[in-house]
Amino acid sequence: MKCRVCGRDAVVKLDYANLKLCREHFIEFFERRVARTISRYGMLRRGDKVAVAVSGGKDSASLLHALWRLKGELGVELVGVTIDLGIRGYSDQSVEVARRNYEKLGVPYRIIKLADYGFIMDDARTLKKPACSTCGAVKRYLLNKAAREIGATVIVTGHTLDDFLAVLMQAYTRGDLQQLAKHRVYLPPADGLIARAKPLVETPERESLLYAQLLGLEFTVIECPLSRGATLADFKAALNLLEERHPGMKIMMLRAFLNRLQPLLPSERRVPGRCEVCGEPSTSSVCQFCRIRSRLTQLRATCNRP
Ligand code: SF4
Ligand code: ZN
Ligand code: ZN
Repeated sequence: MKCRVCGRDAVVKLDYANLKLCREHFIEFFERRVARTISRYGMLRRGDKVAVAVSGGKDSASLLHALWRLKGELGVELVGVTIDLGIRGYSDQSVEVARRNYEKLGVPYRIIKLADYGFIMDDARTLKKPACSTCGAVKRYLLNKAAREIGATVIVTGHTLDDFLAVLMQAYTRGDLQQLAKHRVYLPPADGLIARAKPLVETPERESLLYAQLLGLEFTVIECPLSRGATLADFKAALNLLEERHPGMKIMMLRAFLNRLQPLLPSERRVPGRCEVCGEPSTSSVCQFCRIRSRLTQLRATCNRP
């Protein structure tokens, strides 16, 4: 198998593009696609201070690295933000991996400890609701607050094409129009909410893994112990099966949703007010984070009672 560009040995075959590439040309292809995604959806502007959310996993490691290589061309400044969620057997290692990635590239960073808010995600083990939806709300809140405090103009996350489509399928099967309307590749800023973007949204997850491996990036392979039973993994497996049988299916699904369906959904990022407990932007009188915080700190107190 030979690289289509230079004729050297290829390391990957991309069926959807009918393309075989060597290490060097795959890395170039990967980074060009990130740059194209950013430009296609107007995700970043020259002079932006970009808060890169790094979890310690392969996708955010690849995103951080690709943006670090592209930052001169894009005219942006990077700052890393990592949240220590306090998940036993997972968070300590992930946070350390994220820290090493920042230090290796010389990217300034901030680590936010959820424990400083009086609870940790481990406390969510006792909830009936799946931990991931609680965790998602906690991360959104803390990332937004940290990004605003450090003067970032946009938050970028490592959500890949597979992540985006799996959430899309989940929202579709639940008939959750509200989630479909909110499920965007780029959200503009709105009154206290920092803009958010997903520069890997056109990148298949397996390619983000390959990019990280080819560059020898450090990432954690430990699965989060709270993710057990998550249906998103099953949607991803189904998407991979479709892609295998019909190369190009994933990107076709993304484009069909963004170009044909999403324009029919309400688009504005509504922020009617502020949370009366913490003062952060909220669509209800008490924000979701403060509600979670109150519930989990209570649970923690009950569990620790002799
Ligand atoms: Fe949070 Fe779920 Fe991710 Fe674990 S798998 S870090 S609980 S979102
Ligand atoms: Zn080549
Ligand atoms: Zn609040």
